Amino acid sequence: LKYIEATDPEIADVITHELDRQQYTLELIASENIASRAVMAAQGSVLTNKYAEGYPDKRYYGGCEVVDAAEKLAIRRAKEIFGAEYVNVQPHSGSQANMAVYFALLEPGDTIMGMDLAHGGHLTHGSPASFSGRLFRFVHYGVDKESGTINYDELARLAETHRPRMIVAGASAYPRTLDFSRFAEIARSVGAWLMVDMAHIAGLVAAGLHPSPVPHADVVTSTTHKTLRGPRGGLIMARAEHGKKIASQIFPGIQGGPLMHVIAAKAVAFREAETDAFREYQKAVMENAAAMAARLTEKGVDLVSGGTDNHMMLADLRSLDITGKDAEILLETAGITVNKNAVPFETRSPFITSGIRIGTPAVTSRGMKPAEMIVIADMIVEVLKNRDDEAVIRKNRAAVRALCDAFPIYPEPEG
Ligand code: PLP
Repeated sequence: LKYIEATDPEIADVITHELDRQQYTLELIASENIASRAVMAAQGSVLTNKYAEGYPDKRYYGGCEVVDAAEKLAIRRAKEIFGAEYVNVQPHSGSQANMAVYFALLEPGDTIMGMDLAHGGHLTHGSPASFSGRLFRFVHYGVDKESGTINYDELARLAETHRPRMIVAGASAYPRTLDFSRFAEIARSVGAWLMVDMAHIAGLVAAGLHPSPVPHADVVTSTTHKTLRGPRGGLIMARAEHGKKIASQIFPGIQGGPLMHVIAAKAVAFREAETDAFREYQKAVMENAAAMAARLTEKGVDLVSGGTDNHMMLADLRSLDITGKDAEILLETAGITVNKNAVPFETRSPFITSGIRIGTPAVTSRGMKPAEMIVIADMIVEVLKNRDDEAVIRKNRAAVRALCDAFPIYPEPEG
């Protein structure tokens, strides 16, 4: 930070404020996490200076032999962790990973089946606001109204009717285990590729706590910054036969030079993901989510599907008579960060919504346990039920600060 302070005090100020915000608020956004100092240091390294268009040992620039080692390490480790035949660590983001796969295996206008955004899918699974919905013909599946879980029989029926060329499994807001073998069976029955976007659950998969999509899917995409706790970025894994096409769709298809500093940070994150400590961490993420879900339910909050099997839950706030947008703002004033989220069969706009998404990866990274989840769940409910009572909000803001003080985001000093 001292270098930034000397060159650009305004940005130094932003970083200091953001560190303070992260330290003194409870981060419950399910897609966020707290990367290690090692991951951040790799991203702030001299590797940012290097152009390396192409792939290891086949670059379009000289001087790449050193950074090649970083990319090879990242690829090797991802293969070891997930058992994939082909790995590409160059996507700048999860969205670009998905774009490259669609471009590699499909033609514009082809039919794809993906999960409805309001039922938990991602924008790149066919939203008209995304390139995916503009360039491909998406047919959406969703969850069952009663159970809040994917209705695989209905999915099979839709696949039979629409004969998609690809089925996309995976979600941004689905709290239950995904049945990848069932997805694969349905895809095979209609001659479609199966792509699994495991962005949210990648850390759980790496730790063996959620069934792996790799044996079932033709292609698996992910981000590296959610449960996986690496740098912000994307990842593609595939059967060997698809490797060449995917590689050329990432570069030169949709990207230029790879971010070698981020790729090195991905390698560091994969190394961390191979440790026992990481497995224990992922177990704690799930235990914390289960504890939080149980307490919220006990306190009368409706959870979509009635609970969670993974790192997140979706609270349907209609019975509390508050919108997702208002709940997000209200909780923020108490120092609790969540995001508004559509609930299945949503009637409000995406800017308002009827739900909030709550995830435990970041608070678990701070070392919090089920006892703290119960305290946090109680705070959430108290704030939501007393939205006009400033004294209640103030009291909870102070309690959040005290809890945050006891669990620093970076216990070890900056080195
Ligand atoms: N896929 C899923 C399931 C996601 O939840 C997300 C991010 O929220 C993405 C893809 C996109 O990742 P990125 O934000 O890195 O483009």
